[in-house]
Amino acid sequence: MIKKINHIGIAVNSIEDAVKLYTDVLGLEVKGIEIIAEQKAKTAIIAVGETKIELIESTDPEGAIARHIERRGEGLHHLALEVSDIQSALETLKEKGILLVDEEPRTGVENSKIAFLHPKGTKALIEIVEPRE
Ligand code: ZN
Repeated sequence: MIKKINHIGIAVNSIEDAVKLYTDVLGLEVKGIEIIAEQKAKTAIIAVGETKIELIESTDPEGAIARHIERRGEGLHHLALEVSDIQSALETLKEKGILLVDEEPRTGVENSKIAFLHPKGTKALIEIVEPRE
């Protein structure tokens, strides 16, 4: 069901500062910067070989990312696992008793379909993602 780690999400106060670090210091490349209105977030996708780092800045002080940073500071936010069929993955996980944050997929970065699993069941916040072809 799961194909690979699609990306690792990192919550940051400033995309601009974080992008400088990942490009100038670490020598990585930005694939794109995008506002995801539904998630009240601005993201920068950094390519790292076969996978990606997703830097996430909140666009709303009440948004989930802003609340996360308030409680835990900047840093690791979620792990995104890639599947080929998110609808069937969600059904399978639900059948197996995994607590879901999103019962239905929503739109993520690069027009992908995403859904979050509840960290209570998975020990860490996990996003499953079906990339757009
Ligand atoms: Zn993500």
